[in-house]
Amino acid sequence: MAAALTTISLPSLQKIASGKVRDLFSLPDPNALLFVASDRLSAFDVVMTNGIPNKGAILTLMSAYWFRVLSERIPSLRTHFISLDVPAGIPAEEAGVVKNRSMQVRKLQVLKIEAIVRGYITGSAWKEYQARGTVHGIAMPQGMRLAEKFPSAIYTPSTKAEAGAHDENIHPDDAWKEIGDRETADKVEALALTIYKTAAAYAEERGIIIADTKFEFAKDAEGNIYLVDEVLTPDSSRFWRKDGYEVGKEPDSFDKQFVRNWLIKEGLKAKEGVTLPEDICVATGEKYKEAFYLLTGTKFEDAANN
Ligand code: ATP
Ligand code: MG
Repeated sequence: MAAALTTISLPSLQKIASGKVRDLFSLPDPNALLFVASDRLSAFDVVMTNGIPNKGAILTLMSAYWFRVLSERIPSLRTHFISLDVPAGIPAEEAGVVKNRSMQVRKLQVLKIEAIVRGYITGSAWKEYQARGTVHGIAMPQGMRLAEKFPSAIYTPSTKAEAGAHDENIHPDDAWKEIGDRETADKVEALALTIYKTAAAYAEERGIIIADTKFEFAKDAEGNIYLVDEVLTPDSSRFWRKDGYEVGKEPDSFDKQFVRNWLIKEGLKAKEGVTLPEDICVATGEKYKEAFYLLTGTKFEDAANN
Protein backbone atom coordinates (compact mmCIF):
# COMPACT_ATOMS: atom_id res chain seq x y z
CA MET A 1 0.00 0.00 0.00
CA ALA A 2 1.29 3.48 -0.88
CA ALA A 3 2.14 5.55 2.17
CA ALA A 4 -0.36 8.08 3.45
CA LEU A 5 0.81 11.66 3.87
CA THR A 6 -0.30 12.79 7.30
CA THR A 7 2.13 15.68 7.78
CA ILE A 8 2.44 18.41 5.17
CA SER A 9 5.88 19.98 5.18
CA LEU A 10 6.36 23.06 2.95
CA PRO A 11 9.36 24.96 4.31
CA SER A 12 9.11 27.67 1.64
CA LEU A 13 5.58 28.73 2.68
CA GLN A 14 4.25 29.99 5.98
CA LYS A 15 1.64 27.77 7.64
CA ILE A 16 -1.21 29.90 8.92
CA ALA A 17 -3.62 27.29 10.24
CA SER A 18 -4.00 23.58 10.66
CA GLY A 19 -7.31 21.75 10.87
CA LYS A 20 -8.00 18.10 11.47
CA VAL A 21 -7.43 17.26 7.81
CA ARG A 22 -6.10 20.41 6.09
CA ASP A 23 -3.22 22.81 6.48
CA LEU A 24 -3.48 26.38 5.21
CA PHE A 25 -0.42 28.24 3.92
CA SER A 26 0.01 31.87 2.94
CA LEU A 27 0.82 32.83 -0.65
CA PRO A 28 2.45 35.97 -2.06
CA ASP A 29 -1.03 37.31 -2.90
CA PRO A 30 -2.38 38.43 0.51
CA ASN A 31 -5.96 37.71 -0.65
CA ALA A 32 -5.21 34.07 -1.43
CA LEU A 33 -4.05 31.02 0.43
CA LEU A 34 -2.95 27.49 -0.34
CA PHE A 35 -5.49 25.00 0.97
CA VAL A 36 -3.72 21.65 1.33
CA ALA A 37 -5.52 18.40 2.13
CA SER A 38 -3.45 15.77 3.92
CA ASP A 39 -4.36 12.06 4.03
CA ARG A 40 -5.42 12.41 7.66
CA LEU A 41 -8.80 10.99 8.60
CA SER A 42 -10.96 12.15 11.46
CA ALA A 43 -14.01 10.36 12.83
CA PHE A 44 -16.14 11.49 15.76
CA ASP A 45 -13.94 14.64 15.75
CA VAL A 46 -10.75 12.68 16.50
CA VAL A 47 -7.86 12.30 14.04
CA MET A 48 -6.53 8.76 13.49
CA THR A 49 -2.76 8.26 13.81
CA ASN A 50 -2.53 6.85 10.29
CA GLY A 51 -4.15 8.12 7.11
CA ILE A 52 -5.77 6.93 3.90
CA PRO A 53 -3.32 7.00 0.97
CA ASN A 54 -4.37 9.57 -1.68
CA LYS A 55 -7.37 10.77 0.30
CA GLY A 56 -6.22 14.40 0.23
CA ALA A 57 -5.90 14.35 -3.54
CA ILE A 58 -9.23 12.56 -4.03
CA LEU A 59 -11.02 15.15 -1.88
CA THR A 60 -9.27 18.10 -3.52
CA LEU A 61 -9.99 16.97 -7.08
CA MET A 62 -13.57 16.10 -6.15
CA SER A 63 -14.15 19.51 -4.56
CA ALA A 64 -12.67 21.24 -7.61
CA TYR A 65 -15.00 19.20 -9.81
CA TRP A 66 -18.00 20.27 -7.75
CA PHE A 67 -16.96 23.94 -7.76
CA ARG A 68 -17.04 23.80 -11.56
CA VAL A 69 -20.36 21.90 -11.80
CA LEU A 70 -22.04 24.15 -9.22
CA SER A 71 -20.77 27.36 -10.80
CA GLU A 72 -22.19 26.23 -14.16
CA ARG A 73 -25.57 25.36 -12.69
CA ILE A 74 -25.87 28.24 -10.20
CA PRO A 75 -24.42 31.20 -12.11
CA SER A 76 -24.76 33.63 -9.19
CA LEU A 77 -22.72 31.35 -6.88
CA ARG A 78 -19.42 32.73 -5.57
CA THR A 79 -16.82 30.19 -4.43
CA HIS A 80 -13.36 30.46 -2.92
CA PHE A 81 -11.84 28.37 -5.72
CA ILE A 82 -9.05 30.05 -7.69
CA SER A 83 -7.00 27.24 -9.20
CA LEU A 84 -5.60 23.73 -8.84
CA ASP A 85 -2.21 24.95 -10.07
CA VAL A 86 0.78 24.38 -7.85
CA PRO A 87 1.91 27.90 -6.83
CA ALA A 88 4.63 29.28 -9.08
CA GLY A 89 8.12 29.38 -7.68
CA ILE A 90 7.91 26.74 -4.97
CA PRO A 91 10.74 24.16 -4.90
CA ALA A 92 10.22 21.00 -6.98
CA GLU A 93 10.18 18.81 -3.89
CA GLU A 94 7.35 20.85 -2.35
CA ALA A 95 5.50 20.99 -5.67
CA GLY A 96 5.54 17.17 -5.56
CA VAL A 97 3.97 17.22 -2.10
CA VAL A 98 1.09 19.55 -2.98
CA LYS A 99 0.30 18.41 -6.54
CA ASN A 100 -3.38 17.34 -6.69
CA ARG A 101 -3.92 17.83 -2.98
CA SER A 102 -3.80 21.62 -2.94
CA MET A 103 -6.03 24.38 -4.16
CA GLN A 104 -5.32 28.09 -4.37
CA VAL A 105 -8.33 29.75 -2.78
CA ARG A 106 -9.55 33.18 -1.83
CA LYS A 107 -8.66 33.95 1.77
CA LEU A 108 -11.91 34.86 3.55
CA GLN A 109 -13.48 35.25 6.96
CA VAL A 110 -15.31 31.96 7.48
CA LEU A 111 -18.78 32.23 9.06
CA LYS A 112 -19.14 30.46 12.40
CA ILE A 113 -21.72 27.94 11.28
CA GLU A 114 -21.70 24.40 9.91
CA ALA A 115 -24.36 24.71 7.20
CA ILE A 116 -25.71 21.16 7.20
CA VAL A 117 -28.43 20.07 4.79
CA ARG A 118 -30.18 16.74 5.11
CA GLY A 119 -32.15 15.00 2.39
CA TYR A 120 -32.52 11.69 4.22
CA ILE A 121 -32.87 10.75 7.87
CA THR A 122 -29.84 9.08 9.45
CA GLY A 123 -27.06 9.65 12.00
CA SER A 124 -27.73 12.12 14.81
CA ALA A 125 -30.96 13.26 13.10
CA TRP A 126 -32.31 9.68 13.23
CA LYS A 127 -31.36 9.40 16.92
CA GLU A 128 -33.12 12.66 17.79
CA TYR A 129 -36.18 11.71 15.74
CA GLN A 130 -36.49 8.33 17.49
CA ALA A 131 -36.25 10.00 20.89
CA ARG A 132 -38.44 13.06 20.28
CA GLY A 133 -40.00 13.03 16.80
CA THR A 134 -37.97 16.12 15.87
CA VAL A 135 -34.78 16.88 13.92
CA HIS A 136 -32.81 19.83 15.29
CA GLY A 137 -35.98 20.71 17.16
CA ILE A 138 -38.08 20.78 13.97
CA ALA A 139 -41.19 18.57 14.07
CA MET A 140 -41.05 15.82 11.44
CA PRO A 141 -43.80 13.61 9.98
CA GLN A 142 -44.75 10.61 12.13
CA GLY A 143 -43.65 7.11 11.23
CA MET A 144 -40.45 7.92 9.37
CA ARG A 145 -38.06 5.01 8.97
CA LEU A 146 -34.27 4.80 8.91
CA ALA A 147 -32.74 6.29 5.74
CA GLU A 148 -36.09 7.61 4.52
CA LYS A 149 -36.12 10.70 2.34
CA PHE A 150 -37.48 13.85 4.02
CA PRO A 151 -40.53 15.36 2.26
CA SER A 152 -38.08 18.10 1.28
CA ALA A 153 -34.44 18.74 2.18
CA ILE A 154 -33.97 20.45 5.54
CA TYR A 155 -31.40 22.93 6.78
CA THR A 156 -30.01 21.74 10.14
CA PRO A 157 -27.06 23.94 11.12
CA SER A 158 -24.67 23.33 13.96
CA THR A 159 -22.21 25.55 15.77
CA LYS A 160 -18.61 25.55 14.54
CA ALA A 161 -16.77 24.57 17.70
CA GLU A 162 -13.18 25.56 18.46
CA ALA A 163 -10.55 22.83 18.03
CA GLY A 164 -11.07 20.02 20.53
CA ALA A 165 -14.72 20.85 21.20
CA HIS A 166 -17.79 19.27 19.59
CA ASP A 167 -20.20 21.07 17.28
CA GLU A 168 -23.69 21.47 18.71
CA ASN A 169 -26.89 21.02 16.71
CA ILE A 170 -29.04 24.15 16.72
CA HIS A 171 -32.47 25.15 15.46
CA PRO A 172 -32.20 26.98 12.11
CA ASP A 173 -33.97 29.99 13.65
CA ASP A 174 -30.98 30.41 15.99
CA ALA A 175 -28.29 30.26 13.30
CA TRP A 176 -28.17 34.06 13.02
CA LYS A 177 -26.84 34.27 16.57
CA GLU A 178 -23.72 32.39 15.45
CA ILE A 179 -23.46 34.22 12.13
CA GLY A 180 -24.09 37.70 13.50
CA ASP A 181 -27.12 38.95 11.57
CA ARG A 182 -30.41 37.63 10.26
CA GLU A 183 -29.96 38.78 6.68
CA THR A 184 -26.71 36.82 6.23
CA ALA A 185 -28.19 33.83 8.06
CA ASP A 186 -31.20 33.76 5.71
CA LYS A 187 -28.96 34.00 2.64
CA VAL A 188 -26.76 31.16 3.91
CA GLU A 189 -29.78 28.94 4.55
CA ALA A 190 -31.24 29.56 1.08
CA LEU A 191 -27.87 29.05 -0.61
CA ALA A 192 -27.12 25.84 1.29
CA LEU A 193 -30.49 24.37 0.26
CA THR A 194 -30.07 25.41 -3.38
CA ILE A 195 -26.57 23.94 -3.58
CA TYR A 196 -27.65 20.70 -1.91
CA LYS A 197 -30.64 20.23 -4.22
CA THR A 198 -28.53 20.94 -7.31
CA ALA A 199 -25.78 18.56 -6.23
CA ALA A 200 -28.13 15.82 -5.03
CA ALA A 201 -29.92 15.74 -8.39
CA TYR A 202 -26.58 15.64 -10.22
CA ALA A 203 -25.19 12.83 -8.06
CA GLU A 204 -28.38 10.78 -8.20
CA GLU A 205 -28.14 10.61 -11.99
CA ARG A 206 -24.71 9.07 -11.40
CA GLY A 207 -25.76 6.44 -8.87
CA ILE A 208 -25.01 8.29 -5.65
CA ILE A 209 -27.50 9.50 -3.07
CA ILE A 210 -26.15 12.46 -1.09
CA ALA A 211 -27.97 11.76 2.16
CA ASP A 212 -26.63 14.83 3.91
CA THR A 213 -23.76 17.27 3.67
CA LYS A 214 -22.01 20.12 5.44
CA PHE A 215 -21.07 23.39 3.76
CA GLU A 216 -19.02 26.28 5.03
CA PHE A 217 -19.54 29.85 3.89
CA ALA A 218 -17.53 33.04 4.19
CA LYS A 219 -17.99 36.73 3.60
CA ASP A 220 -15.72 39.23 1.85
CA ALA A 221 -15.24 42.87 2.85
CA GLU A 222 -18.22 43.92 0.67
CA GLY A 223 -20.48 41.40 2.38
CA ASN A 224 -20.67 38.96 -0.54
CA ILE A 225 -21.17 35.34 0.52
CA TYR A 226 -18.85 32.60 -0.78
CA LEU A 227 -18.99 28.81 -0.68
CA VAL A 228 -15.64 27.76 0.84
CA ASP A 229 -13.84 24.73 2.28
CA GLU A 230 -14.17 21.28 0.74
CA VAL A 231 -17.50 20.61 -0.95
CA LEU A 232 -19.64 17.52 -1.34
CA THR A 233 -16.96 14.95 -0.58
CA PRO A 234 -17.33 11.69 1.33
CA ASP A 235 -15.62 13.46 4.27
CA SER A 236 -18.18 16.26 4.45
CA SER A 237 -21.21 14.24 3.34
CA ARG A 238 -22.90 10.89 3.55
CA PHE A 239 -22.79 9.28 0.11
CA TRP A 240 -24.95 6.19 -0.39
CA ARG A 241 -25.07 3.75 -3.27
CA LYS A 242 -28.35 4.30 -5.09
CA ASP A 243 -28.41 0.69 -6.28
CA GLY A 244 -29.90 -1.39 -3.49
CA TYR A 245 -31.03 1.61 -1.43
CA GLU A 246 -34.04 0.65 0.68
CA VAL A 247 -35.97 2.59 3.30
CA GLY A 248 -35.54 0.95 6.72
CA LYS A 249 -32.17 -0.61 5.87
CA GLU A 250 -28.66 0.64 6.78
CA PRO A 251 -27.44 1.95 3.41
CA ASP A 252 -24.26 0.92 1.62
CA SER A 253 -22.14 4.03 1.97
CA PHE A 254 -19.02 5.43 0.30
CA ASP A 255 -17.93 7.52 3.22
CA LYS A 256 -16.46 7.33 6.68
CA GLN A 257 -19.42 5.32 7.98
CA PHE A 258 -17.27 2.29 7.36
CA VAL A 259 -14.57 3.63 9.69
CA ARG A 260 -17.17 4.81 12.23
CA ASN A 261 -18.74 1.34 12.33
CA TRP A 262 -15.34 -0.26 12.91
CA LEU A 263 -14.53 2.19 15.73
CA ILE A 264 -17.87 1.48 17.43
CA LYS A 265 -17.43 -2.29 17.07
CA GLU A 266 -13.95 -2.11 18.62
CA GLY A 267 -15.08 0.20 21.44
CA LEU A 268 -12.77 2.94 20.12
CA LYS A 269 -15.36 5.61 19.32
CA ALA A 270 -13.94 9.11 20.01
CA LYS A 271 -10.77 7.63 21.58
CA GLU A 272 -7.48 9.44 20.91
CA GLY A 273 -4.48 7.78 19.27
CA VAL A 274 -6.31 5.10 17.27
CA THR A 275 -4.45 3.39 14.42
CA LEU A 276 -6.73 1.93 11.80
CA PRO A 277 -5.88 -1.57 10.51
CA GLU A 278 -4.49 -1.66 6.99
CA ASP A 279 -7.52 -3.47 5.53
CA ILE A 280 -9.85 -0.73 6.81
CA CYS A 281 -7.58 1.96 5.28
CA VAL A 282 -7.43 0.16 1.93
CA ALA A 283 -11.19 -0.44 1.84
CA THR A 284 -11.90 3.19 2.76
CA GLY A 285 -9.56 4.44 0.02
CA GLU A 286 -11.28 2.17 -2.51
CA LYS A 287 -14.70 3.54 -1.54
CA TYR A 288 -13.52 7.13 -1.92
CA LYS A 289 -12.08 6.29 -5.35
CA GLU A 290 -15.26 4.55 -6.45
CA ALA A 291 -17.31 7.59 -5.44
CA PHE A 292 -14.90 9.80 -7.40
CA TYR A 293 -15.32 7.65 -10.51
CA LEU A 294 -19.10 7.42 -10.29
CA LEU A 295 -19.46 11.17 -9.85
CA THR A 296 -16.90 12.49 -12.29
CA GLY A 297 -16.79 9.69 -14.86
CA THR A 298 -12.97 9.76 -14.63
CA LYS A 299 -10.78 7.37 -12.70
CA PHE A 300 -8.98 9.13 -9.86
CA GLU A 301 -5.60 7.89 -11.16
CA ASP A 302 -6.30 9.46 -14.59
CA ALA A 303 -7.49 12.73 -13.06
CA ALA A 304 -4.40 12.85 -10.85
CA ASN A 305 -2.06 12.33 -13.80
CA ASN A 306 -3.42 15.26 -15.76
P1 ATP B 1 -11.42 22.85 12.13
O1 ATP B 1 -10.23 23.49 11.51
O2 ATP B 1 -12.44 23.86 12.49
O3 ATP B 1 -11.09 21.88 13.23
P2 ATP B 1 -11.74 20.84 10.19
O4 ATP B 1 -11.03 19.90 11.03
O5 ATP B 1 -12.86 20.38 9.35
O6 ATP B 1 -12.24 22.03 11.10
P3 ATP B 1 -9.99 21.19 8.00
O7 ATP B 1 -10.95 20.73 6.96
O8 ATP B 1 -8.88 20.30 8.37
O9 ATP B 1 -10.74 21.67 9.29
O10 ATP B 1 -9.34 22.59 7.61
C1 ATP B 1 -10.00 23.53 6.86
C2 ATP B 1 -10.12 24.83 7.64
O11 ATP B 1 -10.02 25.92 6.72
C3 ATP B 1 -11.47 24.98 8.31
O12 ATP B 1 -11.30 25.54 9.59
C4 ATP B 1 -12.22 25.93 7.39
O13 ATP B 1 -13.19 26.69 8.08
C5 ATP B 1 -11.10 26.81 6.87
N1 ATP B 1 -11.34 27.43 5.56
C6 ATP B 1 -11.98 26.89 4.50
N2 ATP B 1 -11.98 27.71 3.43
C7 ATP B 1 -11.34 28.84 3.83
C8 ATP B 1 -11.05 30.09 3.18
N3 ATP B 1 -11.40 30.30 1.91
N4 ATP B 1 -10.38 31.05 3.89
C9 ATP B 1 -10.02 30.79 5.18
N5 ATP B 1 -10.26 29.65 5.84
C10 ATP B 1 -10.91 28.67 5.19
MG1 MG C 1 -13.12 20.46 7.30
